[in-house]
Amino acid sequence: MQLPVYLDNNSTTPVDPRVLEAMLPYFTQQFGNAASRTHAFGWAASEAVEQARQQLASLINAHPKEIVFTSGATESVNLALKGVYEAYNSKGNHIITVATEHKAVLDTCKHLEKLGAVITHLSVNNEGLINIDELESNIKPSTILIAVMYANNEIGVIQPIQKIAAIARKHNILFFCDAAQAAGKIPVDVIKDDISLLSFSAHKMYGPKGVGALYVRRKDPRAKIIAQMDGGGHENNMRSGTLNVPAIVGFGKACELSIMEMNNETERLYALRNRFENALMQLDNVFINGNAQQRLPHVTNLYFEGVSANRLLTGFSKSIAASSGSACTSALVEPSYVLKALGMGDERANNSLRFGLGRFTDDEQVEYAVKIIAENVCKLRKELHC
Ligand SMILES: *Cc1c(COP(=O)(O)O)cnc(C)c1O
Repeated sequence: MQLPVYLDNNSTTPVDPRVLEAMLPYFTQQFGNAASRTHAFGWAASEAVEQARQQLASLINAHPKEIVFTSGATESVNLALKGVYEAYNSKGNHIITVATEHKAVLDTCKHLEKLGAVITHLSVNNEGLINIDELESNIKPSTILIAVMYANNEIGVIQPIQKIAAIARKHNILFFCDAAQAAGKIPVDVIKDDISLLSFSAHKMYGPKGVGALYVRRKDPRAKIIAQMDGGGHENNMRSGTLNVPAIVGFGKACELSIMEMNNETERLYALRNRFENALMQLDNVFINGNAQQRLPHVTNLYFEGVSANRLLTGFSKSIAASSGSACTSALVEPSYVLKALGMGDERANNSLRFGLGRFTDDEQVEYAVKIIAENVCKLRKELHC
């Protein structure tokens, strides 16, 4: 078994070898610019991009023309929020989002606030779920967008997407959904879920880093966005810049594999995650953070009472790769704002760890991880009692 065991699949995933294989020819033989219309190199690249576009569309039940390739989910989020804000500014300036959204959403909203946007941050309950009545009561005539993520990156909690969409539709407001953690893992269907704009990212689903997509609904109703990257008019004028053909091909392949394997993988990971979680909960005072039912099948965020998450991570860093979920952009590690939004105090927020299982996580790794984590928890707890 290779060490450390990787249990941080929410931050990124390895490229599936089948994805890499699909990408390779597009670095060398098929290196054309997909926008070159005058020769076979360009045609081959363009054909590959259109095939990938179809594969992405299939994953989320969209039309290929509704897919805009970007550099990742962060860019897709920026394009969606800033693009809608600019396009609908004459209608209104109010955006509703949630306290537990990814920083890509929260910081883009902060940016828009400086430009005159009014932002409402919905709260979540102690399980991480929003309240639909609170959502509806915050809608104003000036509300142009509701931005709620599909599944949370730290606790894996899945929001009531179809209920949110129903409120958005009732009030004629666009619904943007950040699906970076959900797409490719659980069924995401932009028609059934009634989503206007949706962001996702290849490297969260066994594709390469640096490529993502934004779904922009074409009809019923059409979602309009203003481009945030100007230039050659690529991607139907919504995102200029020469396309990253190898990465896009890889993204397409990653979508194809996810569609093929989703049912079996979901079942396998759900069982594996539950085994992992149940084994750790045999220790005293270990608790699940967030709603345990409405949750991604491969994620668990656990509170180890009285045990510092950072000391745990340091203690088993040679054996296990996990994360405290807190984004440490500075040397100062702050408690997770997501866990704090669930009403947790510093003690619980600082003593919680996120584990993300993935396609390449097996029984042996999970068994080993349980043993190492249990040893470290016990060791740190004994030290505390000395
Ligand atoms: C990873 C992630 C992002 C950012 O995606 P990148 O492709 O890394 O820019 C945005 N939102 C969520 C929920 C994520 O998990």
